[in-house]
Amino acid sequence: MSSNSLRDADIRYVLHPYTNLAAHEAQGPFMAMRGEGIRVFDENGKDYIEGMAGLWCASLGFSEPRLKEAAMRQFDLLPFFHQFSHKSHEPGILLAQKLIEMAPVPMSHVFFANSGSEANDTVVKIVRYMNNALGRPQKKKIISRQRGYHGVTVAAASLTGLPLNHRNFDLPIEGIRHTSCPHYWRYGQEGESEQQFTDRMAAELEEMILAEGPDTVAAFIAEPIMGAGGVVVPPAGYFPKIQAVLKKYDILMVADEVICGFGRTGKAWGSQTFDIQPDILSCAKALSSAYLPISAVMVNERVYEAVKKGSAEIGAFGHGYTYSGHPIAAAVALETLAIYEERQIFDHVANVGPTMQAALRQLETHPLVGNARGIGLIGALELVADKDHKVPFDPALGVGAQVVARAQDEGLILRSMAGDIVAFSPPLIITESEIEEMMARFNRALSAVTASLAVPV
Ligand code: PMP
Repeated sequence: MSSNSLRDADIRYVLHPYTNLAAHEAQGPFMAMRGEGIRVFDENGKDYIEGMAGLWCASLGFSEPRLKEAAMRQFDLLPFFHQFSHKSHEPGILLAQKLIEMAPVPMSHVFFANSGSEANDTVVKIVRYMNNALGRPQKKKIISRQRGYHGVTVAAASLTGLPLNHRNFDLPIEGIRHTSCPHYWRYGQEGESEQQFTDRMAAELEEMILAEGPDTVAAFIAEPIMGAGGVVVPPAGYFPKIQAVLKKYDILMVADEVICGFGRTGKAWGSQTFDIQPDILSCAKALSSAYLPISAVMVNERVYEAVKKGSAEIGAFGHGYTYSGHPIAAAVALETLAIYEERQIFDHVANVGPTMQAALRQLETHPLVGNARGIGLIGALELVADKDHKVPFDPALGVGAQVVARAQDEGLILRSMAGDIVAFSPPLIITESEIEEMMARFNRALSAVTASLAVPV
């Protein structure tokens, strides 16, 4: 089909996720036609560096032949089988074993799903089922955080702490609470040190637990680095303090490693970078380099034992997806993990990440950049109207969106989020020189928008 007909058909037939549909009818889609390395190409052959690896996910870029071959081998052998009621298959078994071997802390068993949202919905159900099995049905509440992002299905969207995902969808569901977001630069009070701030975060969590009643709170869920909430890197010592509170009240720690898992922060897991010891861990995205949908929930021995007890005593664990552990997706995930090891991708991130971080930090002298942050190959710039007082732009100006649109003209795909935060999360295979090219394209875009806003430089 010609690109013009495709464009028309897109407007006519596709209900786009996370899109202003009226605006879409006017402006039409951006269509990627093919991919190569860290780049995608539009219908005119113009190249774009994918500075977000799609949606923080295409870790091996857009043309890894081994993932295609792994999928084709499994297509030939057994394209589908499932894991319900004692059924199993080789890629599903091997992938579970591999994930347990890689886990940041001793884990026991793996449940598979198809997306980050499904993984986190599964977390909610495991937590509920587990406590029913343990005969303490009142211990069910889950504490998440404002600006946390855990997905969009009904329970996962409830865990998410962003108004856009609640308002208009009649969410959250009952039993979900949201505690403060640990964004020190934005929410630290006048004269408050980073340490005082983390003490306050832990104290606020404890107050919430005491107000709810500790025997009603079952779990706490957090991303090591908040992604969609604005790439919020926790301040030093945050997670150890939070976990001390959780331990005191017998509350499970759930790490949502959907973005951070598999090297994004320069280590295999964000939990290792930020000293988190999860009882439950959800992951997705880079598990298969996003080439096929697959996600996983790992649970430790204590959680597994409770679910096992329940399945014997209160009725089998009545939860699972047709495609849980889909054999082709599992085969692609296994190959992805093998490539990470062979090419030492996590060490590569630790080596080249500082180049991207230094380029972002350098921009803190720019008049529009209030804060630059990140670690490894995840980072962000928070754009503000007044740097000295951290005053945000009027959201109606859409300054972050303007920068992202301009970057796209320059051949760089990025994402902006609420608060004029521009995120960077390129494929993990990006090289030093490609990082330099990415930042050069970005700087041209930022300069153009700065000039149009007439900010004194
Ligand atoms: N958790 C986190 C931390 C995420 O970033 C996302 C997606 N961006 C999800 C969960 C939901 O994943 P999915 O879109 O695959 O449902």
